[in-house]
Amino acid sequence: TTEERQDAIEQRHTEAAEELVPDNLKLYIGGEWVDSASGETFETRDPTTGEVLGEAQAGNSEDIDRAVETAWDAYDETWSDYSAAERQRVLAQLGNYVEENAEDLARLETLDNGKPISEARVDMQLVADHYHYFAAAARTHEGRTIPSDETSQIETVREPYGVVGQIIPWNFPLLMSAWKLGPALAAGNCSVLKPAEETPLTVLKFLEGVDDILPDGVVNLVTGFGREAGEPLSQHPDIRKIAFTGSTEVGRSIMANAAENIHDITLELGGKSPVVVFPDADIETAVDVMVTSIYHNTGECCSAGSRLFVHSDVKDEFLEGLSAAAEDLVIDDPLLDETTLGPKVTDEQVQRTMEYIQEAQDADAEFVTGGGAPDDEALADGNFVAPTLIDDIDHDNPAVQEEIFGPVLESFEWDDYDEMMEQANDVDYGLAAGVITSDLGKAYDTAKDLEAGNVWINQYNDFPAGMPFGGYKESGIGREIGFEAVEHYTQTKTISIAHD
Ligand code: NAD
Repeated sequence: TTEERQDAIEQRHTEAAEELVPDNLKLYIGGEWVDSASGETFETRDPTTGEVLGEAQAGNSEDIDRAVETAWDAYDETWSDYSAAERQRVLAQLGNYVEENAEDLARLETLDNGKPISEARVDMQLVADHYHYFAAAARTHEGRTIPSDETSQIETVREPYGVVGQIIPWNFPLLMSAWKLGPALAAGNCSVLKPAEETPLTVLKFLEGVDDILPDGVVNLVTGFGREAGEPLSQHPDIRKIAFTGSTEVGRSIMANAAENIHDITLELGGKSPVVVFPDADIETAVDVMVTSIYHNTGECCSAGSRLFVHSDVKDEFLEGLSAAAEDLVIDDPLLDETTLGPKVTDEQVQRTMEYIQEAQDADAEFVTGGGAPDDEALADGNFVAPTLIDDIDHDNPAVQEEIFGPVLESFEWDDYDEMMEQANDVDYGLAAGVITSDLGKAYDTAKDLEAGNVWINQYNDFPAGMPFGGYKESGIGREIGFEAVEHYTQTKTISIAHD
């Protein structure tokens, strides 16, 4: 019965929380677990049950000051003396730790964020692999030798910034911390990291677990809210670079703060990515790719393919297949292996998604499927939104132009390639895009026409270590992961040598 299922969910989550929520819900500064200067705390909740999982410390500017100073001490006294080989060893051990504790970290991520456990397990494999990738990168990022004239030679050396500030969101909590810490440490920097207030738990557990591996003060964690902890970090004169992942709105203010201090910056912001389906696409493949592109992680992906451009020859068949696949998703307790769509991270995020759904309803758009909470009483305590597919909507509707960050897809039909491409590029964002066709030449040409930092062909949301990722237009500046990311955490010193 509904009540029995509800009780089972609650019991499963209570037991998992007792087993997995870390003891140290404190700030981690200089290798010590400390209270915030204000003594204030905030609750982090389980999006499936609404229960409080723990109370983390609400850091403020005083804590940020302390963390930045401690990070510089660690840089000057320890980390800057580490050779590339020693940094490689530390990063590899971080990867090993995640590999060995992957199941616990995945379950904790599911408790705090709500993502299906099957997806959290993939995240943890990626976290481990990214640390191993950046371990190797620590050894292989090199300068250049530039020919000058017969009596002089020019060399470039890539040097770390020293201390960097890093602010991350809640959609892939531990993975985003690895995307930030991996390249920063590989390049030889120390970090002050601020996780999202919605999901502080896995990075706390990770740092508790790797305390013996990391020299004190190389990574400092200040939990807390955006205004109180994130803003002072982005304004701090003694960091040399700020890296941020989150909304474009906050990205703008981070960039303004960086301008005050002439700090280097990496921004990875929102998206409203198009996926183009050609009439020659294999429909079954296209449906699978589309499900991954919009419903993976409950649509809480900056890269989500949230605008579908399907050729009129295959539109009916495709939308039928896609809505059937959306309805086949298993919406349930995300701790269960078979669940494929979990709750959204917070109630506010549900409200935000519902406001966009309302916009589409007000515009008389057609809801092919979804459009509200799933019809399952046992899930009433959770932040669930049914997978939604919208057709017949104007391309200038706010639900089409703005990032929803939920399981909501809008579909557009096309016949003329040029008109379609104009519309596909007609948003402020330019993060990612998808092309589905059986003609690779056509796919390649289309990829070049799309204004996006990343284009997936016949696949979507694949993020192997080594793949540079980042946006065009208002989706960001710089590239994360891959070798490019290490470069972004260094500055070039040019040394010119006179010789006989
Ligand atoms: P957000 O940008 O407000 O928060 C992201 C991070 O920035 C968090 O750690 C937050 O504490 C911090 N932050 C917030 N305000 C800050 C400030 N003034 N200065 C410094 N740091 C600050 O995002 P959100 O409120 O969690 O979500 C809002 C929307 O942003 C989402 O609905 C989605 O559209 C988008 N988003 C995008 C991504 C992404 O991966 N690009 C991730 C999360 C959210």
